[in-house]
Amino acid sequence: MPVNALYRDDFYLSTAEAVVTAIHEDGGIELDQTCFYATSGGQPGDTGFLERADGSKIMLGQTRHGPIKDIVIHVPLEGEAQPILGEKLVLHIDWARRYRLMRMHTACHLLSVVCPYPITGAAVGEDESRVDFDMSETIDKDEVTARMMALVNENHPVYVQWITDEELAANPGIVKSKNVRPPVGLGRVSLVCIGENSAVDSQPCGGTHVSETQEVGAIHIAKIEKKGKENRRFRIRFGTPTDDA
Ligand SMILES: [Zn+2]
Repeated sequence: MPVNALYRDDFYLSTAEAVVTAIHEDGGIELDQTCFYATSGGQPGDTGFLERADGSKIMLGQTRHGPIKDIVIHVPLEGEAQPILGEKLVLHIDWARRYRLMRMHTACHLLSVVCPYPITGAAVGEDESRVDFDMSETIDKDEVTARMMALVNENHPVYVQWITDEELAANPGIVKSKNVRPPVGLGRVSLVCIGENSAVDSQPCGGTHVSETQEVGAIHIAKIEKKGKENRRFRIRFGTPTDDA
């Protein structure tokens, strides 16, 4: 059943109320609406718990999409109680984890501004993220860190603009990813913009991001690995370079 994906319009929504609309054979739970982000576009799905009327908790190990993007399946950890159809629940995402993912995800966008090469892959993580670029140049990681931190400290606004699938198709140049498909299929695509009037960047992305770059905090490029002649893998970590020492 299509879900009202509240996280698409409010990245900071950590709790919400919902009604159970389906329960899968494997225990997966569908709800009428949700603030749980489902794994996609290189960002892992949310964890957290569903609170029942009696105060007991159903702990969730992951959140993923069904066969279409409008289906979100909340997957309980093994051995958790099963809710019943029509049951009202209060949703609680693991906000500390999600906020780290939002900071990291935004940092990946800043890296793509500093390194304007085609992206061949990306994975956002709580402690470390990686972005792969189609590039053959050698680039100094400390210089990349300094330029990313300049963008963080300039505190640019980060916001979403919705465009239609047709508008995206008419402007293929705004897509930076070579292998990661933009989040089409909803009829509308979210364009993540950084800076007033997208002065810093804009690109299609369905993930969750912080609302101003300063929230990213201290980050640095821990490593740049050579993956083939024309592929470079950048690893972003929280903290300053000396935190790795
Ligand atoms: Zn993004």
